[in-house]
Amino acid sequence: MNKKITIAIDGFSSTGKSTIAKLIAKKYNFIYVDTGAMYRAVTLYALENNFIGSDFFNVDSLVSNLKKISLKFIFNDQLSFAEMYLNDVNVEKEIRSLKVSQFVSKIAEITAVRKKLVLEQQKMGENGGIVMDGRDIGTVVFPNADIKLFMTASADKRATRRYKELIDRGDNVSFKDILFNVQERDRIDSTRKDSPLVMAEDAIEFDNSDMGIDEQFERICILIDKKIS
Ligand code: C5P
Repeated sequence: MNKKITIAIDGFSSTGKSTIAKLIAKKYNFIYVDTGAMYRAVTLYALENNFIGSDFFNVDSLVSNLKKISLKFIFNDQLSFAEMYLNDVNVEKEIRSLKVSQFVSKIAEITAVRKKLVLEQQKMGENGGIVMDGRDIGTVVFPNADIKLFMTASADKRATRRYKELIDRGDNVSFKDILFNVQERDRIDSTRKDSPLVMAEDAIEFDNSDMGIDEQFERICILIDKKIS
């Protein structure tokens, strides 16, 4: 049986973190947790309850309602990954919309939101055997992770990937808006006061602008095999 190690994957949006994390989880039989989905679900809740909009953000109302938010990942056998449920409703499709992407970094700046989600993430990982992706996994959630990866790619490459994903699922979006959103989230995520996106000192950086998934996965498996053997 594989040693149950903890793998933290951080990096900018749309750098293929989740693709790599899913491959690792499948190969090594680890749990995969997409922490971005948790921030996205809280954002959807805030939008649905009118706590945030294009010209307002009622932080106090969101914070006092945080205890009413229940987040669950439920594994979908057909899709081979765990989908996000917000208060027992499957919101996997809604949380990936451009609208949610446009507000999520504002929501992720709020310390009370981060505290709630980080605690839940640490609980999910307490027995190891986990690969978790996000922005603060190697720095805040699991500072002692066995392996820390940090993924980067050019904004243009990342926006192209995200644009294709949204077009493929039938969303009506423009490349310009996606590129702007990717850059804006980079800016907010990297400059916020609480748990900004920074590379942990002991993380290994992967710039995958021109590296295919297979090559990255191969390199990462070598690192994992060394740790678990
Ligand atoms: O990973 P994804 O792009 O879905 O994340 C959406 C947003 O959630 C990020 O842009 C960031 O603002 C926030 N996030 C975070 N910390 C994490 C994961 C995501 O602040 N660990």
